[in-house]
Amino acid sequence: MSRSRIVIVGAGFAGYQAARTLSRTLPRTLRGAVEIVLVNPNDYFLYLPLLPEVASGVLEPRRVSVSLAGTLPGVRLVLGEVGEVDFDRRRLRYVDPEGRSGELGYDRLLLTVGSVNKLLPIPGVAEHAHGFRGMPEALYLRDHINRQLALAAACDDPEEAAARRTFVVVGAGYTGTEVAAHGQMFTDSLARQHSRGARRSEADGAHADGTPRWMLLDLAPRVLPELDKRLSDTAHRVLRKRGVDVRTQMSVKEATSEGVLLSDGEFIPTRSLIWCVGVRPDPLVKDLGLETQQGRLMVDEYLRVPGRPDVMACGDAAAVPDLTRPGEITPMTAQHAVRQGKVAGRNLAASLGYGASRPYKHHDLGFMVDLGGVQAAANPLRVPLSGPLANLVTRGYHLASMPGNRIRVLADWALDAVLPRQAAQLGLVRSWSVPLESSSPEVARTPVP
Ligand SMILES: Cc1cc2nc3c(=O)[nH]c(=O)nc-3n(C[C@H](O)[C@H](O)[C@H](O)COP(=O)(O)OP(=O)(O)OC[C@H]3O[C@@H](n4cnc5c(N)ncnc54)[C@H](O)[C@@H]3O)c2cc1C
Repeated sequence: MSRSRIVIVGAGFAGYQAARTLSRTLPRTLRGAVEIVLVNPNDYFLYLPLLPEVASGVLEPRRVSVSLAGTLPGVRLVLGEVGEVDFDRRRLRYVDPEGRSGELGYDRLLLTVGSVNKLLPIPGVAEHAHGFRGMPEALYLRDHINRQLALAAACDDPEEAAARRTFVVVGAGYTGTEVAAHGQMFTDSLARQHSRGARRSEADGAHADGTPRWMLLDLAPRVLPELDKRLSDTAHRVLRKRGVDVRTQMSVKEATSEGVLLSDGEFIPTRSLIWCVGVRPDPLVKDLGLETQQGRLMVDEYLRVPGRPDVMACGDAAAVPDLTRPGEITPMTAQHAVRQGKVAGRNLAASLGYGASRPYKHHDLGFMVDLGGVQAAANPLRVPLSGPLANLVTRGYHLASMPGNRIRVLADWALDAVLPRQAAQLGLVRSWSVPLESSSPEVARTPVP
């Protein structure tokens, strides 16, 4: 009997779960006959919901990076970024991290390439804003925040110091809201450390350090516009109490190296524009020549690509019909991607004759937004929660959802509860290596040799 090969492209929420389900579903007797290959640019699964805690110095980066080799026994990892698929020949081409290209044949293919930063045609934004979709951007932001506060503390010009201490986040969805909430706590902690030094040197004539300023903008009339209004109210209350300047029905007209011009004509001097206006499907999707809906790959409720019986897709990259809301497609969330990955894993096994295929159907279980400290806004099973209870539920949910590294995450949370944040920038990810417009936010751009 010849060996069948199932190739999964992308090891995010959907791809990771599909690989895991598949390797556990196939009976031992079939394992020698089926090879599972996972193609991904990195050797880890990135737990994106905790990325704001990496950027704000609560968690170290490897805590949210779960080793693929260490947690997916029976799955062969191929490090690479897929650039082309020949569906007629059932072959794909990829480029590995050292720039070498390779080819892989498949009998079944699952595409789970996720999404990248969404851009809007606003002058200066592509050049001066940074997104928040991958680890390199989170590492860059952590260092950038540290650097701005250090430069502000040493600056003799009060206007420049104020601009360096001003951080503008555009997009008040869950990503932007969490980045602003955690960012504000981070800069407060760093500013306290700098102000101790400033107080010491005030006697020598230096000026005292100022308070960092965070702004959160959105075109929508409320923060977390896509979530339950009660979650919005909680988040808005917490942010306002911490001094975050929340401006709704507001956008950016232009960005420059000196600041941002808001849609109402006000100019905000800043060196930090953080772009969280949403995501769009990975650019590979449109290069595949397959049918799309709202830029996502068309699939049926069994996650099969129409006209290609050996190809499936799910997660952010796919337009999966939402059977709980006929006529709509599922939103781009980890909650759906994980469950779609499980169904894809089972259906891939079924396509090889093991088990039965089933359609994807999932009722939304609510959402959780960690606001830093002991604050969160959550509505698990539609029960609205706020404050420390919401925070406990949110953190418990993240721990339960992570496929590894739980003790490490818990240890960092415990350390953060008792120690100040570390004011240390390593400077390993530079501004030019994390451009807003990138088809691969999961890898930092390197200089062309
Ligand atoms: C900061 C942040 C916080 C979030 N918080 C939440 C939350 O709290 N709750 C929630 O439900 N959702 C949240 N989301 C959304 C959620 O993370 C996404 O919906 C989810 O990651 C989608 O899963 P996916 O598997 O489709 O894509 P991803 O998880 O993005 O995985 C895609 C994978 O494909 C790989 N890939 C991309 N292109 C290629 C290629 N050409 N070749 C090979 N591999 C490729 C990528 O490297 C990546 O590993 C958050 C998103 C962000 C950015």
